[in-house]
Amino acid sequence: MTDTLQIAARLLPWYDRQRRDLPWRSAPGAYADPYRVWLSEIMLQQTTVPAAAPYFRAFTERWPTVEHLAAASLDEVLVAWAGLGYYARARNLHKCAQAVAEQHGGRFPDTEAGLLELPGVGAYTAAAIAAIAFGRPATVVDGNVERVVARLFAVEEPLPGVKPKLRALAATLTPRQRAGDYAQAMMDLGATVCTPRKPKCMLCPVAESCAARAAGIQEELPRKSAKADKPTRRGTAYWLLNPEGSVLLRRRVEEGLLGGMAEVPSSGWEPGRSPPLDVAWRELPGMVRHTFSHFHLELQVLAGRAGADWTKAEGIWVPVDRLGDQALPSVMRKVVRHALAHV
Ligand code: SF4
Repeated sequence: MTDTLQIAARLLPWYDRQRRDLPWRSAPGAYADPYRVWLSEIMLQQTTVPAAAPYFRAFTERWPTVEHLAAASLDEVLVAWAGLGYYARARNLHKCAQAVAEQHGGRFPDTEAGLLELPGVGAYTAAAIAAIAFGRPATVVDGNVERVVARLFAVEEPLPGVKPKLRALAATLTPRQRAGDYAQAMMDLGATVCTPRKPKCMLCPVAESCAARAAGIQEELPRKSAKADKPTRRGTAYWLLNPEGSVLLRRRVEEGLLGGMAEVPSSGWEPGRSPPLDVAWRELPGMVRHTFSHFHLELQVLAGRAGADWTKAEGIWVPVDRLGDQALPSVMRKVVRHALAHV
């Protein structure tokens, strides 16, 4: 049996000695700024710590408080976010900053329920902010924590069906004191010691309480249901130059994948868009490949030159050397690189 009382008691001293030094973490015992906690958690939902760190520094240098971020334009935020992916989150980030600035006087709500009301803040993020920024005994469960809990309790049922059970077990471990440090300690344990492959049980502060280790099955957990392969969608991107050497970009519709982002006009992989002008399109060699969370995408790139009717095309014309200023999602940056390499 896993000794639930011992977990936090062993984990917290380990955290005090071994905690990772991350740009959004406050010094031990110091006040944690809810704005920085929130921003880091939103960024970390979709990327790794090393990838998020430079974005976090850039955001907090440019917008040191939630009011500063709320006062920025959506376009500025989207451009600064470009490369982090999942642009709906960037739009929600901006909306959330505005809600905190305008409806809460610049102060984040200090309970899970209050935080959950904010745009883009789901159960995980609300719990993380409540625990880390406000010391609430909220249970923070992400993939790392699920893995650690599955191992501590030797839970053999597969993900994702077992998630509610893992959450309930995780809740039995959350201490009433130092809940924020405990949440971060679990994250650190999952990231550095209880890793997906080859967990370093010899270095683990809770090894004595770990049922999977006792049974010798830690590397097999958590089990996962066999899942279907991601489908592949195919489409076409249109690289159109005008007589002045500018490239046509359009804005994607607000709803759906990459909503509101600029794009090299494309069609096929999502419904409803067609070539921007009727010109002689030339197929460029090769293919642009990109993987989204639910599908792989293969884009054929066609290049064309617009004639005198170039002003009729819907969109904006951007000089090639200014494309870097646009909030282009990663897949479209790949299209730009591909086109520049082949036209
Ligand atoms: Fe993970 Fe090993 Fe620690 Fe168990 S003993 S929690 S498997 S690192």
